[in-house]
Amino acid sequence: MGGLPAELAALIWRRDCPGCGAPGEGVCPDCRIRLRAVPHRVGTVDWPPTFAAGPYGGPHRAVVLAAKSHHRSDAVRVLGEVTAGTVRHLVAEGAVADPRLVPLLLLPAPTRPSAARRRGGCVVLGACRAAAGSLTAGGGTVRVGQVCRLAEGARDSVGLDRVRRRENISAALRFDTGTLAQQAAWVARTGATVVVVDDVSTTGATVRQFSLACAARGLRPVAAVVVADA
Ligand SMILES: [Zn+2]
Repeated sequence: MGGLPAELAALIWRRDCPGCGAPGEGVCPDCRIRLRAVPHRVGTVDWPPTFAAGPYGGPHRAVVLAAKSHHRSDAVRVLGEVTAGTVRHLVAEGAVADPRLVPLLLLPAPTRPSAARRRGGCVVLGACRAAAGSLTAGGGTVRVGQVCRLAEGARDSVGLDRVRRRENISAALRFDTGTLAQQAAWVARTGATVVVVDDVSTTGATVRQFSLACAARGLRPVAAVVVADA
């Protein structure tokens, strides 16, 4: 290599901590500890039981923003590790079957294709793939199924009451019937556990409506995990 100015290299390969910006090699020890905090149940979602790795603040928020707004692939990998950590916690609690014994299907919550293009790929899908890699490394069978997207023209839920917000999201779900049939057949054949994954839960409406729609199509989630609970 050689010849590449350090400043340019730093722009291409970000090395500062995606959780707090501290200079160094990736996630700093302090953020590492905070990102490993015990997950908590999200109160705004009645079903499925939804667990957040942390609050929408501190390193959890910073890593989400680094992935979504600054397109950092290292931050997407960290989101995957945090997601895998939450799944491991649920396995330890008995809420999710051990993926070494029962296969696991992770369903990324739907996003708009235009947002994914802008970010160089869907952040939640990337986080699911990284989480699956981490959980598979432990000897488990873990799949990721991107079965749904959000319609481009969907109106923003901001300002809508709870019922309207739910209707609005349900109307925007666009299932990929081919992928859906494939994953539903695999789940029926293997008895795999289904878990929905999202980055941030604000009202919980997306996780709830997406989960209900999946359940109606043969993919009934036992839980949902999010990185941060706003
Ligand atoms: Zn840090």
